Amino acid sequence: MTGGATRLPHALLFAGAAGVGKRELADALAARLLCEQPRQPREAACGVCPSCLMWASGQHPDYRLLQPDAALEDDEPGDAATAADAGDKKKASKQIRIQQVREVEEFFHVSGHRGGARVCVIDPAEAMNPITANSLLKILEEPSASFYFIMISHRWRRLLPTLLSRSRRVMFGRPPDEQSQRWLAERQLAEHAKWLPFFGHAPLAVADAARTGRLKALESVVADLLKPQEALAQANRWESLVKADGALSMEELVSTVQKWLFDLGQCAVAAPPRYFPQQNKALGGIAARMSLPVLIQAQQQVFQLRAWSNHPLNPRLFLEDLCVRAFRPLGL
Ligand SMILES: [Zn+2]
Repeated sequence: MTGGATRLPHALLFAGAAGVGKRELADALAARLLCEQPRQPREAACGVCPSCLMWASGQHPDYRLLQPDAALEDDEPGDAATAADAGDKKKASKQIRIQQVREVEEFFHVSGHRGGARVCVIDPAEAMNPITANSLLKILEEPSASFYFIMISHRWRRLLPTLLSRSRRVMFGRPPDEQSQRWLAERQLAEHAKWLPFFGHAPLAVADAARTGRLKALESVVADLLKPQEALAQANRWESLVKADGALSMEELVSTVQKWLFDLGQCAVAAPPRYFPQQNKALGGIAARMSLPVLIQAQQQVFQLRAWSNHPLNPRLFLEDLCVRAFRPLGL
């Protein structure tokens, strides 16, 4: 991987759906580039040299991670400080700030602490706005023998063409379900494999939802969708779900309802459900009781709500509106 004909490009773009392992591979590659023991090209980092030990401690001086502040909080579900200060949580940026890129620029211009490679991982690249991306481009244009950028993108088509043209794109496909099931089973998560279709067949997304407790919340949303209560009572229940610690976001809740309505539409035209195949029979039963035009109307109405789900002015009213729109086809 280092030296000779197999030299790695200095800017890599790992592109593909979320939850298929792009960040995990980027980190493994970063550790390998930083590793100080000579290794065969296809071998992983040694894990025992001074650099690997620093890597394992999470404090490698020649590694930088660029990510939005909001991602940091997502990594710490149930953290007392963040939960206690909901005001701060709202302010956490979903964008990579220009100041963060400037710090990388400084890091780029000083020589490395260990005299070897230096690596910057950007996760995700679409969290850079055009101004931030342009200032990163300026760094990418200056060649440096020992500096590597690994950009991660779940939506690479949205990236600036200049960013795409200056990096080597590596596409990540979705693993086959059998492979994902094995991977989940190895992590004692076999029972959650039924969520693979819901999460776009991305095993890491399923594992993450299990870890953060969101799968539990999703289970109860599905139970509600199978047996919906009257709209106001339903809004009440879902309000407590989105308020709970490590809970579903409003956006995720709306998207779950959208997926459910989509699958009802599939069943209404005798097509297989895409997101909830294990609920095929129940979905078919519900679809049989309602008219297709009313269902399509509900789908459109919930779709319109989606745009507001990030920052509803009044979460309670928003949820009531969602329940009325979603359950109207069922006569509730
Ligand atoms: Zn090592």
